[in-house]
Amino acid sequence: MISKPTLTPSDIARITLKRLAELGLSPTPENYVKFYNAIAAIKSPTEKTDQELKSAYQVLFRVSDVLDDMAETSETLLGDLSRGGQAMSDSLDALRGGLDLESLEKVLDGLIESTGSVQQTVSASHQDLQELKASIDKIQSDLSINRKNLEQDPLTGALNRQGLDHLLAKEVKRSRRAVRPLSVALLDLDRFKQVNDRYGHMVGDKVLMHFASLTRAVIRESDTLVRYGGEEFLILLPETDLNGARYLIDRMGKATARTPFFHQGQPIEVRFSAGVAQLKLDETGNALLLRSDEAMYRAKNGGRNQAVFAD
Ligand code: GH3
Ligand code: MG
Ligand code: MG
Repeated sequence: MISKPTLTPSDIARITLKRLAELGLSPTPENYVKFYNAIAAIKSPTEKTDQELKSAYQVLFRVSDVLDDMAETSETLLGDLSRGGQAMSDSLDALRGGLDLESLEKVLDGLIESTGSVQQTVSASHQDLQELKASIDKIQSDLSINRKNLEQDPLTGALNRQGLDHLLAKEVKRSRRAVRPLSVALLDLDRFKQVNDRYGHMVGDKVLMHFASLTRAVIRESDTLVRYGGEEFLILLPETDLNGARYLIDRMGKATARTPFFHQGQPIEVRFSAGVAQLKLDETGNALLLRSDEAMYRAKNGGRNQAVFAD
């Protein structure tokens, strides 16, 4: 068991290629980059605590163990089946040879024995497979816990960029399949540097947490809050067109105006500029983000504290 991982990029590259081969995926640049990043993210000691890394490692080790077990089990099963098959075909050959009662009885005994042993093997394998299934279920639940840690912004509890990548890809597919609208709203806090300059970075952090909780209180359960950058948040809005998004931005504006963050009895006002875009037919998730980003910059240039809706 490795207690403190010290992996170089070439180690990660090696693991990446091994994983791709094991999964039967061809090492195309896309697959390679995807796996390399995922493995590097799990193993990067600078960004993860030792405990997180250790549990990520344990999960990877268990996946390996399960795969090894599976290979072994199927090998045993195949071996036993082919031995059983051989025994049966021997019996059938003997049957063709002669049909007197005594030899028939022998042949039947042989058949019963070989089917019995095949049956034993199959039921033992079945039990093995059930154990494997239980291990896989456990691994899946560990992985989703791990994934949640890797995809969350620790300050605000919002999804981070990596989490957004996964979710956006899923939502874009879903929106297309179901022919339902999907929108994103990019919110950048106005003149946030001044908050830090005036009250200090720690208070700035608290204002960001405050803004995140306000947003969570306003959005629907099916919407997702993402920390897109330092003082930039993105809200992913499934089942929402530009009109629905306009309504949400309006409520957000009212909520932030009504609920400033209080520091030592002093209200700290927060305003934001927003860029909103709705997914077009045949548009990629990245193109959608780009349009909301452009719209947000137009809102900044237009004087801040406003929203621009991309067409
Ligand atoms: P505007 O967007 O309206 O153009 O002005 P701004 O001052 O918000 O924008 P700018 O991009 O110049 O600065 C963003 C500031 O956000 C810089 C940094 O001090 C602050 N910031 C970014 N991330 C964090 C963070 O995690 N914590 C705190 N406290 N401040 C942050
Ligand atoms: Mg910014
Ligand atoms: Mg800003």
